[in-house]
Amino acid sequence: MNLNKVFENNKKWISGKLSEKEDYFEELGKGQSPELLYIGCSDSRVTAEDLMGMGPGEVFVHRNIANMVISIDLNAMSVVNYAVEHLKVNHVVVCGHYACGGVKAAMQSADLGILNPWLRNIRDVYRLHKNELNAIENEDKKYDRLVELNVQEQCVNLIKTAAIQKAYRDRNLKVHGWVFDVHTGKLIDLEIDFEGILKNIMEIYHLD
Ligand SMILES: [Zn+2]
Repeated sequence: MNLNKVFENNKKWISGKLSEKEDYFEELGKGQSPELLYIGCSDSRVTAEDLMGMGPGEVFVHRNIANMVISIDLNAMSVVNYAVEHLKVNHVVVCGHYACGGVKAAMQSADLGILNPWLRNIRDVYRLHKNELNAIENEDKKYDRLVELNVQEQCVNLIKTAAIQKAYRDRNLKVHGWVFDVHTGKLIDLEIDFEGILKNIMEIYHLD
């Protein structure tokens, strides 16, 4: 891969933006006020802004292997905190995707070194939903369902944080779980029952 291409592309991108709007970069330089925090997978096929048709300044993005929200991950927790408390986003999305390599790896018996502790969080999701998953005979369907359940559990992990609980109470912030189907390009809303989950878990996780 010739990286010079990247800089050529960048020049073309700049002229494209300027031809649309003369003061595009002056405006961009003034600051950001995204309304959405997107937490997705690092997978190169699942391009956050592109698949949502959003541009610079419109979405605050965090990506890691298998779109995880782990309470001791300083990186993810800083992103959530900054987006919710400072940028005041009103929507937080966890977006998983079918054919996720991270989820697949967590379904197999293999020692993957430093990835083990990360992927163990997905094995924990499997354990929580073992009965449902083990009842699915078709391996591909089981894999797809684990992708969805992992998104759901990461939404639950968001709801366990003080920042999300406060923003929900003060300004009705919403958490959403989505899945991107890499086979069709379709974005699917899992319609996770935010209110129901809150009712169910707040007894235990209430912080503020
Ligand atoms: Zn993935």
